[in-house]
Amino acid sequence: MRIPDIMKRRMSFSFEVFPPKEDKPLEPLLAALEELYKFNPDFISCTYGAGGTNVGRNLEVLRSIKNRGETIPVTHFTCVGNSREDIRRQLDEYLSIGVDHLLALRGDLPANNMGTGGDFSYANELIAFIRAHYGDRFAIAIGAYPEKHVEAKNLAEDIAHLRIKQDAGADFIMTQLCFDTEGFKRWMDRIRRAGVRIPVNAGVMPVTNKDSVIRMALSRNGCSIPRHLAEIISRYWDDPVGFREAGIEYTVRQIGELICEGIDGLHIYALNRHETIEEIVRKSGIQANPKGL
Ligand code: FAD
Repeated sequence: MRIPDIMKRRMSFSFEVFPPKEDKPLEPLLAALEELYKFNPDFISCTYGAGGTNVGRNLEVLRSIKNRGETIPVTHFTCVGNSREDIRRQLDEYLSIGVDHLLALRGDLPANNMGTGGDFSYANELIAFIRAHYGDRFAIAIGAYPEKHVEAKNLAEDIAHLRIKQDAGADFIMTQLCFDTEGFKRWMDRIRRAGVRIPVNAGVMPVTNKDSVIRMALSRNGCSIPRHLAEIISRYWDDPVGFREAGIEYTVRQIGELICEGIDGLHIYALNRHETIEEIVRKSGIQANPKGL
């Protein structure tokens, strides 16, 4: 069964991993994946390096997930540095190894300010291209930003662009990290009122390390740090063990609130670490999904 069909029946549950650098071994990630399979995820997605970096490793990871046969592999894919020809070659390669789900992204722009350096400037163009050349052979996810994409002038404009991606043929949404659950709920209301009807898979970043939380929120994504999380950061500034404990509690509470909100999917950024995930899944009371449902 394809992910959009699973999401129509019940909340999907998934993880995200990233490929190791070219000079690092793959084995630690393969070992972490073995642990993640035990939670019976509906899919595991693997990031794609912007500008073609680390693409070989992305394929290796996806091939391994596919061959293991425990879950659906989903690749991220970007327009950065990719011509139409490059895109066709890579998508053909994904299909040849049995990967037929992808998250279609524009990608972060290189620092030279010269656009994507590929044939497409925005994700909606990539989606239209995939639909034109591959029909329904791929299930297509799109990225979305509950607090707005950093480059967008305002949330209304960003949601209008999200609608364009849906109308170009996307099947479901995968959201950027968002520590602000109340903001997430308001965004859900706004996208539904704007005619965005496809299922929403909410991305949750585990809160385990003070510096990573600050970096991930502010370095690139422009995400807010809500008052309660700010207090945890202040209280445990010099106490990583205390921070981790309070952070996991924050994450578990956020997951509970998102599930109550009626999200169609829960996607945990596993960051290639299974120990934290195990604790979060156990404390959240998330049930493993029976196979084949
Ligand atoms: P788009 O939807 O194209 O939007 C980019 C900006 O342009 C937005 O501000 C939007 O409002 C605006 N816009 C959109 N369409 C139009 C239009 N037609 N005309 C004018 N303006 C428009 N990056 C990676 O490199 N590798 C990854 O693996 C990766 N994984 C990600 C996973 C998730 C779940 C998410 C949410 C993001 C991920 N990213 C990844 C980051 C992503 O590539 C960046 O956030 C990028 O800057 C935007 O990509 P997008 O597909 O959302 O862009």
